[in-house]
Amino acid sequence: MSSANYSSRNQPPSNRQLLILLGIFAGFTIGIIWLIGWIASSIVWLIPPSVEQQLGAVIVPVYDRLAPPSPAQTTLNQLLDRLEAQLPPQQRQNRDYQVLYIPDDTVNALAIPGDRIIIYAGLVKQAQSENELMMVLGHELGHFANRDHLRSLGRAVIVQLAIAYFIGDVGSIGSIAVSGIETISNAQYSQSQETQADEVGLTLLQQTYGHVAGATDFFARMSEKQALDIDFLATHPAPARRVKEIQQLIKQRNYKIEQKLPLPPTLS
Ligand SMILES: [Zn+2]
Repeated sequence: MSSANYSSRNQPPSNRQLLILLGIFAGFTIGIIWLIGWIASSIVWLIPPSVEQQLGAVIVPVYDRLAPPSPAQTTLNQLLDRLEAQLPPQQRQNRDYQVLYIPDDTVNALAIPGDRIIIYAGLVKQAQSENELMMVLGHELGHFANRDHLRSLGRAVIVQLAIAYFIGDVGSIGSIAVSGIETISNAQYSQSQETQADEVGLTLLQQTYGHVAGATDFFARMSEKQALDIDFLATHPAPARRVKEIQQLIKQRNYKIEQKLPLPPTLS
């Protein structure tokens, strides 16, 4: 008996032992990835406005070229100003949010570093009331409030930016930002990021109009579309679930639903 035990201890590692080793290795890798994610999502709160402005100086011109001045852009900025006036003072300080309206059939909206909200003509074409368009704009302001516009640069870029800033290598911020430009327009937000941005949008809608008619219209319409040709669905997932969550919030907060306003003539 004892000799049998002895010999089994000297056998080459069994499949089971190899599996355990692999498991430990995989667990370690997942842990590291999680840690980097956690660091990146915490660091975005430490990136100061001065760095954001430098990021904007590199990123905004890329979109600016695509958004020539137009009556639609002027109107969208007037609408945005009304929402902005309702933001808490700490979210308005040193900020100058502006819409860049891109005359292109893409159905999408994005919040980018440099205080800009990109709205494509394809999205405006889908909207049927001023109120629902205001909800989309308010939602995008919500992404700024939650710093999702920085998260959309990608974890690697955020970590590089933070390192450059903290070691005082301010000169390299621009070139780091360039490497994040690609990811911005494809950044997919998580459902919790979307829910938080919706909450900000809904609050702004209530404060602007005194009621929240139209709050779910745009997302409800998107949930009926084919995901394939709608960029908005790729960057802003699960519209049907969001509609439910917004409706729950409206109930909880006892918000009223009154008459919707038609789209301003420059947008319809
Ligand atoms: Zn969103």
